[in-house]
Amino acid sequence: MESNVGKNDRFWCDATRLNDYLCPYRYWMRHIRGHVPRAASIDLEFGIAVHRGLQTLWAGESIEQAVERAQMGFIEVEGDHRTRAKIAFLLSNYREFYPTDSEDWVMLANEHPFRFALDDDIDWAGRLDKILMHKRSGNVYVLDHKTTSRYGDRFWDSFYPSWQLTGYVWAARQLFATADVQSMVFVDVLIPWINADNPRVKKNGEPYANEKTWRDCYKREPVETVGAESMPELLDTLYKIKQMHDYYAAVSDPQPPPHCYSAATCGMYSGCAYRGICRQPECADDLIKHSFKQEFWSPFNHQENGEQ
Ligand code: SF4
Repeated sequence: MESNVGKNDRFWCDATRLNDYLCPYRYWMRHIRGHVPRAASIDLEFGIAVHRGLQTLWAGESIEQAVERAQMGFIEVEGDHRTRAKIAFLLSNYREFYPTDSEDWVMLANEHPFRFALDDDIDWAGRLDKILMHKRSGNVYVLDHKTTSRYGDRFWDSFYPSWQLTGYVWAARQLFATADVQSMVFVDVLIPWINADNPRVKKNGEPYANEKTWRDCYKREPVETVGAESMPELLDTLYKIKQMHDYYAAVSDPQPPPHCYSAATCGMYSGCAYRGICRQPECADDLIKHSFKQEFWSPFNHQENGEQ
């Protein structure tokens, strides 16, 4: 499979498009009409800021440079615990918890965009977070970072299956064809718990038993990716998405596709950006005019998704 980030004449899909297709109406709004909220959610902005800082840290820059880069353009929301100080707190302690200058590992790629042909008609695209090689074994691993404020018992369930992580492994195998790229991906989660940077303490200075401290802000888990046996199922969905693009490119008076109205999909992450339009379809034109702008998603010129 050939890498072809620069080719634009073929249909491509990535994990964001695939995820948005869980609701055809959402997909249509975001990827056919290109309507995105004028103001990004604090979840997204915070996740993007932390990713920027991590990219800088993993590139070997200082914590100060990473924090400065992460905080650049980040605007706090009054009353929200995801502040500029919390960004600095997460990045500083991450460096202590997971040293980025370990002698055991060498970094092969950092925020690397990719695009390659899955079959004759469809490309798979995305942006690799990190690729690391373990020096002694020669094994190569993908490392992905997530931020979330909703870390709970079922957090890791959402990775089974994960086409996003699977796509990263495929891409790593394209980029480093002679390397032994493992099917298991490491996922680092950064959790901005509300009081973690200032835990409430007892009179003796000890934090309360259930109070989160900086150590609770980091989780690392290995995630096994999807096997080749599931490829036909993925291709089937990708062809449906491609057909949707072809249909809307061909017809002159297209009608929107159905809404999913699934509580799980409507509430995913920090909640669907189009909920207001779905609840008040009679106000759709006004809402789009005043609260949305036109901008089409591309993994090639965007930072990866923010909070998961
Ligand atoms: S709110 Fe729900 S039904 Fe409406 S676009 Fe979003 S996911 Fe679809």
